[in-house]
Amino acid sequence: MEDEVAVAAEDELGTQGVELLRRLIQIDTANPPGNEQPAQELLAETLGAAGFECELLAARPGRPNLVARLRGSDQGPTLCLLGHADTVPADPSEWSFDPWVGDVVDGEVRGRGAQDMKSQVAAEVAAAAALGHEGWRPRRGELLVVTTADEEMGAAAGAQWLCREHPDKVRSDYVLNEGGGLSFELDGRRFYTLCVGEKGVCRFKLRARGKAGHASVPALGDNALLKLAPALERLDRQPPPEATAEAVEFLQTLEDSELDTEDPNGLAAALDRLRAGAPEAAAYLAEPMLHATLVPTLASASRSVNVIPSQAEVTVDCRVSPGIGKAEALATARAALGDAAEELDLVPTETVVGNRSPTRSPLAEMIETWLSQSDPGATLVPIVMAGFSDSNWFRKAFDSAVVYGFCPQREMSLREATPLVHNADERASAADIGLATRFYRDIVLAALG
Ligand SMILES: [Zn+2]
Repeated sequence: MEDEVAVAAEDELGTQGVELLRRLIQIDTANPPGNEQPAQELLAETLGAAGFECELLAARPGRPNLVARLRGSDQGPTLCLLGHADTVPADPSEWSFDPWVGDVVDGEVRGRGAQDMKSQVAAEVAAAAALGHEGWRPRRGELLVVTTADEEMGAAAGAQWLCREHPDKVRSDYVLNEGGGLSFELDGRRFYTLCVGEKGVCRFKLRARGKAGHASVPALGDNALLKLAPALERLDRQPPPEATAEAVEFLQTLEDSELDTEDPNGLAAALDRLRAGAPEAAAYLAEPMLHATLVPTLASASRSVNVIPSQAEVTVDCRVSPGIGKAEALATARAALGDAAEELDLVPTETVVGNRSPTRSPLAEMIETWLSQSDPGATLVPIVMAGFSDSNWFRKAFDSAVVYGFCPQREMSLREATPLVHNADERASAADIGLATRFYRDIVLAALG
């Protein structure tokens, strides 16, 4: 009988997560401009009614961050369930349904943010609110739920600002954020990613100089745009794989054996085996971890159609392993471009050094224990995410904090879910929202008693 009640409660909890996600999707928080206020108010109301102390802290009008706190009776760790309330924009003409419909069709919740990351925010808040309503309070430490604004546009009004201006309000020992929890299968085994770090960003411009002239007479000028061509051609391929610590750790966990990092063929062979068994895990996870990536994104040249450009620029979005600074990143870029960049200026525009948490920690053990009960036989595998997230600001602000990305998804695999992020027809499995909601409830109880 007790078991039946537990099963019903689990379903009830999952339903609450799905309902909250639907309402969040229906509030358009596409950034720019963000407009996170109504979403944050909904979350503050939900958590406030469950006994949380809620504060809305805004760097800009209409764009608050939510900090919700449930205090415990004894000293102990602070566990923070972190998320962001904004999304990337959506162009309805590219979607087969309204991006802000927030309905459930064929077991899937549909709309912008269903993956990145209103789903996780809804699961975190629904789990925390359910615990609060039951009268649960941390036996030790405290539970924080933090939902930031402005994650998708650099976090100047979000986590970056919050950690700088209000460190005492968000100081945490353990943080659970986005970036991990997707699952994939390899040789009959299921793996769930644990995101322990994010790559750093080092963007730069490649600038070519020439001489202007009337475009009707090519010999009059020296076309700067054409001088970029060899460099662009070179950027069509990425630098060769290297045995980065995170890639080695990832491949070793999958193969359950030591990788000889001295042997360059060993790395290539392990990657080949992964490509054969789980091509998406190779392409989306392993390959970005194996080298710096250099992707040209923005370009500009002449301002007039009839003037030969005297200057031309292309901006390169370069991502490097955690801990690698500007000088090393630019040296890698120069090496990759070789003589194609000889006559070009390389002008750095934006650098954020990536960081990471240790793979082994009490929090990782708690997640592993949960996984062994929820999906027996499945394995947690550490990754460093190719993209960037608010985790970076929390690690930087709080030296000793262990910050991971983990939001479990089983129904929708890595292969299905990854292409939906920042893309059209974004959606998530309602069963996975239930799984994630139960996970956050369980992990709070495991960490705070
Ligand atoms: Zn996100």
